[in-house]
Amino acid sequence: MSYKLFIPGPIAVSAKTMEAMTSAPIGHRSPDFVALYQSVQPGLQQLFGTADPVFLSTSSAWGIMEGALRNVSSKRVLNCMNGAFSDKWHDVANRNGIPATPLQFEWGEPVDPAAVRTELATGQYDAITVIHNETSCGCMTDIAAVMEVVREFPEVISLVDTVSSFSVLNIPKDELGIDIMITGSQKALAMPPGLSLCAVSQRAFNRAKAAANRGYYFDLLEFLKNHEKGMTPSTPNIPLIYALRSKLEDIFAEGPAERYARHARLNAKVRTTIKAQGFELLPEEAFGSLSLNCFKNTRNLDLPALNKSLKAEHNLVIDGGYGKLKGKAFRISNMGDETDETIAEMLDAVIATMAKTPVLAA
Ligand SMILES: *Cc1c(COP(=O)(O)O)cnc(C)c1O
Repeated sequence: MSYKLFIPGPIAVSAKTMEAMTSAPIGHRSPDFVALYQSVQPGLQQLFGTADPVFLSTSSAWGIMEGALRNVSSKRVLNCMNGAFSDKWHDVANRNGIPATPLQFEWGEPVDPAAVRTELATGQYDAITVIHNETSCGCMTDIAAVMEVVREFPEVISLVDTVSSFSVLNIPKDELGIDIMITGSQKALAMPPGLSLCAVSQRAFNRAKAAANRGYYFDLLEFLKNHEKGMTPSTPNIPLIYALRSKLEDIFAEGPAERYARHARLNAKVRTTIKAQGFELLPEEAFGSLSLNCFKNTRNLDLPALNKSLKAEHNLVIDGGYGKLKGKAFRISNMGDETDETIAEMLDAVIATMAKTPVLAA
């Protein structure tokens, strides 16, 4: 059975990207690999808005999210928390024995720059974690405003998760002063899961040198040493790097600006269409994500029944609410390769199916 994913990751993967993964195997210490690795760097640096190296990690994003923290924080990290992924990052700091303070906001509220300033001004911190786009509740923080505050504190290394916003809109890493910017393959890049990408500043490398317990697999200095030879520290997922090369061709053929405009347009289309069906956006409108829309289940529809019909009758699935929002909210992705046509078709199917979905007793 095959059906199309409109959940906010993993998302649909094009036939071209799948085909790219079938290239013949090469050795990861061969000149062919070095050529492949180096071929993706300029495009990645352009998309990250950085002159820093962009590392490719054979792991999901959490590998780098955890590993990077171990590289740069030993004193205390401030974890900005406004949804499931950012809440989890605090848990991950705790599990690693890194002193960590939660800066908690409601799910669906953005990170407040003024609250960040108040905390950082205490002088306790050597690092901060922020999730740009909280996928769990469809909330996008104004990362430029947060980074403006973080830059006031040069001793604080910034770790910014752009897992579900990278390539949806321009996030100029160097201009914003982000030290470690992290993304993953299976969200807006529309690749299969299993590869994460991160760009790392010299400030972060300097900090890592002093970190006694940074481990091996996610040691940023190991990544740097190998990067200088056009390689990764251990055997990478080479098929996914072929997929990445193919995807970068697509992105630059379309043009980054056109890609960003397409995401904004499709996102607005989903938002207005579903709101017209009597649903409210979960986050405040101004902080609604451009990658996906998270709606409150205002009509109290039986979301599992809705998804079952969507899958059986239209070969597509949306998301029925993440974590504590399960059944209470639903999410629709507009990331990756979607077009005006595919989004319109999906919306027609969703609206028709909603009309015959049972309403749950209050
Ligand atoms: C999906 C997601 C993650 C986790 O990514 P994995 O690849 O599953 O490790 C982290 N942060 C955000 C914002 C995400 O959307």
